[in-house]
Amino acid sequence: MLGRKERDQLELFITGSLRQLIPDEHILVRVDAVLDLSWLRDEITDLYCIDNGRPGIDPEVAVRLMLAGFLLGIVHDRRLMREAAVNIAIRWFVGYGLHEPLPDHSSLTRIRQRWGAERFRRIFERTVQACVAAKIATGEVVHLDASLIRAHVSWDSLAVRHVEAVAEANDEALRDSRQSGKFKKVCVTDPDATMATNGRNRRLEPAYKQHTAVDDVAGVIVDVEIATGEENEGMAVAGRLDAVAATTGQAITTATMDAGYAYAKVFRALEDREIEGIVPAKAEPPPGKVIPTRRFKFDARHNVARCPKGKILRPKGKLHRGAFQYFHARAKDCGRCPLQARCVSPSRRARVVVFNVNHPSLLRARRKRSRWSNREERLYQRHRWRVEGVHGEAKTWHGLARAVRRGLDNMRIQAFLTAAAINLKRLAAALISLICAVLTAGVAENRPPRYLTVQ
Ligand code: SF4
Repeated sequence: MLGRKERDQLELFITGSLRQLIPDEHILVRVDAVLDLSWLRDEITDLYCIDNGRPGIDPEVAVRLMLAGFLLGIVHDRRLMREAAVNIAIRWFVGYGLHEPLPDHSSLTRIRQRWGAERFRRIFERTVQACVAAKIATGEVVHLDASLIRAHVSWDSLAVRHVEAVAEANDEALRDSRQSGKFKKVCVTDPDATMATNGRNRRLEPAYKQHTAVDDVAGVIVDVEIATGEENEGMAVAGRLDAVAATTGQAITTATMDAGYAYAKVFRALEDREIEGIVPAKAEPPPGKVIPTRRFKFDARHNVARCPKGKILRPKGKLHRGAFQYFHARAKDCGRCPLQARCVSPSRRARVVVFNVNHPSLLRARRKRSRWSNREERLYQRHRWRVEGVHGEAKTWHGLARAVRRGLDNMRIQAFLTAAAINLKRLAAALISLICAVLTAGVAENRPPRYLTVQ
């Protein structure tokens, strides 16, 4: 017989907690078991007036709402609040009953503005420290990588408007900048984002760049920072290495990076910190007509360079941008050289090459690369699925493929909350493994400790 469900029944009351209606394996239930934000109130007390004004939204509720959104991949405030209104798991996670009205979505915006990105960084750092306390991260072996995040702008139309605006304001400047090749597209609605292109689709687009450091043990994100899209990977490395050590309280022993980081100053930063760097060499450019700088040998002891014909090039002039030294060959040597046509530019009489002041570190790294052992090869393979896997996870499941809001601070908050959500997932998984191990061993345990209480 066909059944019929009466859909308009009124609920008189519900006994018990909403928790009983949510399955144990729900992500919010799992994360709740490892999440303790009792420290948060003290952290942000100074931002609120003690004895005046309307009581604001409970800070723990705000953070739980945001974390629930990032865990479930609902990153827009309005959508999140619409979902929270009908989702008993989110209501239970933030501590609201079925009939309680939820905060307005604009409260989340105001909280982000009031707290600033650094408070959200503290939330992320707490998750890292909790992972270290739970022994699923050590901070000793880390994998670093960068990923572009598309800015929340429609740059095609904005770029045209920008060109027109500049043309109107200063016709001559526009013409000059075009002629000199220095014209640059900018996003007028989000000036913090810059034009960048990734290696995959080669399309120039307004973007931010996320620098991520992932621990080798269980894929915990130990550091995350946002820069403009055009910032070179090498510029951020030293600061990120120091930030990882400060957050985990542990000196890094080994760091892996891809060939995009194979710059002299990166190797120098690793040497200065006594960190073993596992970084492949940059791909050799295809052979061209001109003899490349790589064919010139740098002699660090005597601070000279030697050309393929064994002639000496000496340093001349001041350092360029504080980091690059020009080395000049003698016109007499080049004038008689059979390689002159391939080596010296037609506008010059002698070859000039430029080396970074940290070039010796680059040479040592290249020599080391040619002697990589199985261990180093294995670690570099792990780099791929550890840190690139985290970027894929963040973009596919947690909404990091595109910025949700405009401005560097908003982008940083999004990155910190995404990383915190991923770390909490790792912690929750570790807790389940621990419970399984305890049950398997037949040891009776009470409720496991809340890892996130870091002293
Ligand atoms: S052209 Fe000058 S720098 Fe180049 S290989 Fe000959 S001597 Fe050396």
